[in-house]
This record gives sequence, C-alpha cells and structure tokens, in this order.
Amino acid sequence: MKVNAYAATEEKAKLTPYSYELGEIGSEQVDIKVSYCGICHSDLSMINNEWGMSQYPLVPGHEVTGEVIAAGNAVKNVKVGDKVGLGWMSSSCMSCEQCMDGEHHLCPESEATIVGRNGGFADVVRGHWSWAIPMPQDIDMSKAGPLLCGGITVFNPIILAGVKPTDKVGVIGIGGLGHMALKFLKHWGCEVVAFSSNPDKKESILAMGAGKVIDSTSSEELESIAGQLNFILNTTNVTLDWNSYLTALAPKGRFHTVGAVLEPMAIPAFSLIMGEKSVGGSPIGSPALTKTMLDFCVRHNIYPDVEEFPMDKVNEAIEHLANGKARFRIVLKN
Ligand code: NAP
Ligand code: ZN
Repeated sequence: MKVNAYAATEEKAKLTPYSYELGEIGSEQVDIKVSYCGICHSDLSMINNEWGMSQYPLVPGHEVTGEVIAAGNAVKNVKVGDKVGLGWMSSSCMSCEQCMDGEHHLCPESEATIVGRNGGFADVVRGHWSWAIPMPQDIDMSKAGPLLCGGITVFNPIILAGVKPTDKVGVIGIGGLGHMALKFLKHWGCEVVAFSSNPDKKESILAMGAGKVIDSTSSEELESIAGQLNFILNTTNVTLDWNSYLTALAPKGRFHTVGAVLEPMAIPAFSLIMGEKSVGGSPIGSPALTKTMLDFCVRHNIYPDVEEFPMDKVNEAIEHLANGKARFRIVLKN
C-alpha cells in the first residue's frame, strides 16, 4: 500500500508531499487511517533537528486519531474498524522489565513514532498494537488527538507526584501541553497558578480555571508566591529563572519538567536541601494510564482548545505554532 504523507526533506525545511510504500504488515502491527493529527512542539523540534536525532525525509505527526484498517494476525487489543489513537510512541519490546511492569513508555527498546520512522501527517500510520490506544465510545475524535501525546505527558506527572485535590499547584507555559495541564489540575480539584509570558492569553487562561496568572519571566512577580506551591509543572523549552520557581515551592514541593528545555537547567543544591524539595521529569505515560486519562476526559468533558487546519495547509499550521499564535493546540484534518 502506498502512503501519502508530508515530509521535511532536510533540517528546517518546509514540508512537501511525500509518498512511500508501507510494505507488508507485521504480525503485531496495526495500520491506522488517520482522521486527525495534532501538532506538538516536538514535531517542530524534530523538523528543526533541535535534539540531533532527526532523520530525513521526516514525516512528523504523533497525535493521531483514526481507524484501524489492517491488523497483523497476533494483534489482540484492537480489530479492523476500531477507533484508536497513536501518540509519541509506536512500539515497545513487550518483554523488558519496564514493559512487563506496565511501563511501556520507559522501555529502552521503544520506538518513537517520528524518530527513524514515518508519522501521522499522512493518510495512514503504522504502529505496534500496544500503542494503538482504543478510544472511548463517546470521545470527540476531532479534538482527542492532542491527548495522545501532550495530554498524557501532563497527566502522568500528576499521578507520579501524587498531587492532591487540596494542593496549590503551578503550570509554566500555557501552550499546547500547559493548557491541558491547567484543565486537568482544575478538574483534579487543585488551586492552579498559571505562569505565562504572554499577557494576551490572560483572559483565556482564567476562563480555563486558573486562579491567578503570573508573568513566567518576571522574578519579581514570582516572589509574590514564595513558599506556596506543592507542585510546579514546566512545559516550556526555554531557560527561565528556575531558582525563583524552586523558591515558589512549599516545603516538600516538587518541580517537574516535561518541557524539553534546550539548555542545562541550573539548580542550586541549597534550594532543594532546605525544604526537602525535589526536581524531576518524565516522558509521556503508559498505554494503560493513557486509557485511564481518556476515560477521565470523557467523564469531565475535558478537551484541548483546538484550531483545525486541513492537512494540506500543514505548513501554514506549523508557522502558526512556531509564531506562538496557536490557541491552544492545532489539529490537522484529513
Ligand atoms: P507550545 O504549544 O509551543 O507551548 C510552549 C509554551 O511555552 C508557549 O505557549 C509559551 O507559553 C511558552 N514559551 C515559549 N517560548 C517562551 C519564552 N521565550 N519565554 C517564556 N515562555 C515561553 O509547545 P507544546 O507542544 O506544549 O510543548 C512544550 C514542550 O514540551 C516542548 O519542549 C515539547 O518538545 C515538550 N514535550 C515533551 C514531552 C515529554 O514526553 N516530556 C511530550 C510532548 C512535548 P506562554 O505563552 O504561556 O508563555
Ligand atoms: Zn508530542
């Protein structure tokens, strides 16, 4: 079968139509007809080779919702015709300690959907059955794609950190990931402080449930909440005044980054020592937790705010995101 996709043929290039032969399906693989695909900042970072691991031609796209159109003979969890989602990961070995523990996202042999393989800016994408996540019956497929990468990436830390409904928490960067984090934490019951560098977003951020918006780039404004937050989630990839954020943590508080900050983060030891504070990070989340998150979203009607672009306007869509104009997640429609 021939797949029609959009690819960057070299670093930082605009995407152009690109076709490739899918080849025979493996016994544990599924082919998904892409209905919608979100655009994550990681797609931009991969197109621009910011992490030094891009291979070209590069077909981005790892926030897919669609329908199974073929399944290998060993696939058990989904069948042809099922609605599924595919996120950042598309394969894991299924036999290492992490996979056996249900933590497939920590599998050392895992494959990322757009690293050395072709992603979802296409009419069809292929993956291992373990990452073809069955979608809840009542979910809105046109808005659910971003939950498969951005959503689970910010949902997992809430579980990892044991965030309580009584906690006061912060989210840095209210873009694709950040606005989903804000919605999750609000529904969790938390008081949420949003840190944003863009005053134009303030009204929407408050409407999403933040109690307060603080300029993420202002050390002076950060002083106003010193010692108050139990948990801070960073979704930006830029260098900010990390020490002021550690100061904003309450004793025993946790600072967690999912944003792929491009420079080393300076963390003074005493800022951790004195209040028994901790710093951590995480990649996406497991397939099981992804399913749990999707059910949570349906139960509470939590969706990203999406802007829809047709798939053939992919370059305009990418530019819109790169210019900081997305409100708050772009989804491409086939
Ligand atoms: P995004 O939609 O572009 O949002 C990033 C936000 O960061 C922006 O909306 C902006 O928020 C803030 N920001 C950007 N430039 C800034 C600057 N110069 N100063 C201060 N704030 C700035 O990106 P995304 O898709 O949410 O992805 C966010 C990060 O997470 C990326 O690094 C991505 O690669 C990473 N990621 C990691 C994982 C993982 O598994 N750990 C998964 C998915 C994505 P404000 O306008 O509110 O300031
Ligand atoms: Zn992503």
